[in-house]
Amino acid sequence: MNNSIRTDYSTISDKLSDNQQTTQQSPIWFTYEDINELNDPQLNSLLIRSFEQWLRDTMSSPFKDGSFAFCNPEGRIVAVKGQLESMDSESVELVELEKLAKDASMSDKLLKDNHIIAIPIMKRSDSQSLAVLIWISRNEVVEGASVLLEAGSLHLRSIFYHLFEMIYVNNLIAQQQLSDKEALRRDTLIQVAKRLHDQNDVSSVLNVLLMDLEHLYPHATVELYLSQDHVNGDPRVKPLLIRHSATDTYAKAFLDAKPIVEQVSQGLIELAIPMSGKQAVYGVLSITMSTARWDDSDMRALIMLSDTAGSAFENAKLFEQSNLLIGELQLINELTKRLNQSLRLNEIFQFAMTELLNIFKADFCILLQLNKEATGLQVMSSNVPSAVNESYSTQYGFCGIVYETKEPLIISDYWGTRVVDSQLMDETKSRSLIATPIMANTEVVGVIMVLHQNPNYFSYDNYKLLQVLSTHIGLAITNASLHAEVRRMVITDNLTGLHARHYLNEQISSRQRKDPCGSLVLVDIDHFKKVNDTYGHQIGDRILISVSDVIRSCIRDSDIAARWGGEELAVYLPQIRAEQAYRIAERIRSQVEKNTDPTVTVSCGISEWMFEDEKVSVESLFYRADMALYEAKNNGRNRIFLG
Ligand code: GH3
Ligand code: MG
Ligand code: MG
Repeated sequence: MNNSIRTDYSTISDKLSDNQQTTQQSPIWFTYEDINELNDPQLNSLLIRSFEQWLRDTMSSPFKDGSFAFCNPEGRIVAVKGQLESMDSESVELVELEKLAKDASMSDKLLKDNHIIAIPIMKRSDSQSLAVLIWISRNEVVEGASVLLEAGSLHLRSIFYHLFEMIYVNNLIAQQQLSDKEALRRDTLIQVAKRLHDQNDVSSVLNVLLMDLEHLYPHATVELYLSQDHVNGDPRVKPLLIRHSATDTYAKAFLDAKPIVEQVSQGLIELAIPMSGKQAVYGVLSITMSTARWDDSDMRALIMLSDTAGSAFENAKLFEQSNLLIGELQLINELTKRLNQSLRLNEIFQFAMTELLNIFKADFCILLQLNKEATGLQVMSSNVPSAVNESYSTQYGFCGIVYETKEPLIISDYWGTRVVDSQLMDETKSRSLIATPIMANTEVVGVIMVLHQNPNYFSYDNYKLLQVLSTHIGLAITNASLHAEVRRMVITDNLTGLHARHYLNEQISSRQRKDPCGSLVLVDIDHFKKVNDTYGHQIGDRILISVSDVIRSCIRDSDIAARWGGEELAVYLPQIRAEQAYRIAERIRSQVEKNTDPTVTVSCGISEWMFEDEKVSVESLFYRADMALYEAKNNGRNRIFLG
């Protein structure tokens, strides 16, 4: 750009249109413009060009026999014509002429002697000289020559200004074109930036960017190398691999976060522009185009566009992530709520399995719990039929690894890596696996495994989510286990391990509602007071435990033995008639006699109920058994009476 032009460009078009209307009446506006000190760098060349054209115009002038020296306002010779052409610029003659020119320029006056006329050529806007024209005559200067030369110098002056105006106008036009181009680029950039920021998903941001770039540079090849593992199916979007960072332009642009321009071959230029957001660089934009179409000023625009895309990409990504997070939180909330609705361990395992299959759209899911001895992992719920009720060693397979390391685990292709042998993966033909420990405080109490037959099926987000879910499943399992433990403690007698009396009552009532009959056997140790007195309470307790063990060994799992009072024990035999109850009581009686040390005996009272009885209640059953027991005691002890 020519910075010598002192014009308010915003009004140029106004002036041009004014000009069209006023051409006839007044001189063109720019003819008032004049050369000034800002034009100094171009002045000499402008003077030379004017002088040359003037010489062409005045070939047949009366001055053609002499020589001309044309000087700038400082007196320096810029061009010569005639004999002076062969002179050395350092020659005395030329130095003398320059001195003369300087004097003429300073004095603004025509200077002459017998052979020389020096005419200052004045600027059009002020009284300063623009140049000095010197004519050296071969002969003595004739009368009237200076008038003629003055007229010639005016011609030279108008040639100069004509050239000056041409340059001036050309500069204006170039300037106008440049600012038009800039304005267009600015508008386009604003439009693209707005469109980019309007997108709230990552794929759309990338599509808009690539689409607009192709629109802006239709002859270029545009590609995007992304550092994020982002799949959107667009062939122009490729993963950025930082393997050969020393030689790879994209990797370098990415690592340095600086754009790179490279001539790749004759006439072909390649740009690598990093796409940066506030937090990170996300990728590198690659544009390959012909050198002829490349304009350095495009770079600034492209960097801006790439940065805008970077921050739009970042925003969209954050938006997607927060949506995902909200989704996950809702899911966790829902799962926890439903897990906590149940305190039954089996139900929780079953429910968790169904939910996990659903959440991860998985093929198989297995939940395992550590057994009491901490030697094996028991399958608690699974949709793999062969795994149901299976138990694996804590050192076996993937569940073994998770148990040992206490860490979650992701396998993208079991067939490809085969870290360990897994019966489960083999049987189900699964290739993908995510697994996580179920923790209670710092201990592993179980393992969750989620499987799929496709390789690379589970994402890293899936893997993280399973970890979060396992915490909640773990809590629900711990709660249910604690609840079961408390319940067991409540319904169990501490000393004998038999059931508590209230549990027996509850069970009899509930069985009476659905069974046709049942029997109750009350067992009381004979002269137990004496045992205590003789051997002490501790031995007494041991005897009580032995008698309880005998009772347990004589009944089925479905029968309910309880500690009824201090040393009185009771057994309820569901759906058993009195005669059979008698045989069981007899077995108890004889076994106690044989298996206690010191030997004790027991007396038993039996009662039964039947559906058709008038009075069927727990109280009456106990009352009648107690009566029978009383009879047994009265009749010599170590015997059984039916009530
Ligand atoms: P019998 O039943 O044959 O009439 O005589 P007994 O001595 O067993 O009489 P009773 O049933 O009235 O006495 C119950 C005794 O059992 C009183 C108490 O010292 C003892 N006893 C009750 N509960 C426990 C217990 O938990 N541990 C011990 N060591 N003794 C108990
Ligand atoms: Mg008693
Ligand atoms: Mg007793």
